[in-house]
Amino acid sequence: MDLRSKNLIDDVQQALRVCCPGEICYDIEKIPNLPGSYALILALWQDCDIEVGRLGHLHFKSGFYGYAGSAKGAGGLSSRLARHYRHEKAFRWHIDYLRAYADVIGVWLTLKGSECEIADALKGLPTAYPAVPGFGASDCRTCDTHLLRLAGMTLVD
Ligand SMILES: [Zn+2]
Repeated sequence: MDLRSKNLIDDVQQALRVCCPGEICYDIEKIPNLPGSYALILALWQDCDIEVGRLGHLHFKSGFYGYAGSAKGAGGLSSRLARHYRHEKAFRWHIDYLRAYADVIGVWLTLKGSECEIADALKGLPTAYPAVPGFGASDCRTCDTHLLRLAGMTLVD
């Protein structure tokens, strides 16, 4: 992992630690089989045009993204995160389409906070801004999006 993405992870941890006590995890094997919420930190290495389900054709700038999600069903966080890490799957959520082009560089796990609290905390980062209206938030009444672009970081060539 590049140093600058490490700094980004530190910033994300600081923002999330307060509202949603949890931890960053890089090892899929260590993710608990419990219900909870998470922030998926993604790196998109180049600009991409991506068809995202009903949201249609979208342009994504290269850089880092934070996606807030929750896993309340059977299998909990471990099976949901395993799904995000896996490439072979039937696309179901908006994030599946972006994930096909982006790498997962870390995930924040919490057994306490909600996905909306996570989205809110990511929004509070000084250089973050909503990436795509409605992304991951079709059923959400409080957030306009669950995908934040974590700008202000440069990528290694
Ligand atoms: Zn929400």
